[in-house]
Amino acid sequence: MNTNCLAGIACPRCGYDERFSIVGVCTFDVTDDGSEAVGDHEWDDESTIVCASCSLLGKIKDFKKGKKRGKPRTKKRGVRHSPRLRNG
Ligand SMILES: [Zn+2]
Repeated sequence: MNTNCLAGIACPRCGYDERFSIVGVCTFDVTDDGSEAVGDHEWDDESTIVCASCSLLGKIKDFKKGKKRGKPRTKKRGVRHSPRLRNG
């Protein structure tokens, strides 16, 4: 059970929650000699995440447990059943 960086995050396919690859944002100071990371790296719900166990690729929001986003279900319009004429 994760309580820090990965709090609430688990693979929706295999349930693995120990390690993920996340595509985040980081700033680099770059000179002709090379580059150096500056400040923090960060990511958000829209960032790409890959399960280290089953390689499922998705967005972080899709990997968050318990937060099922209730999709507003469009009411199905009454499907008209064409009455089958039974011969008999
Ligand atoms: Zn997985």
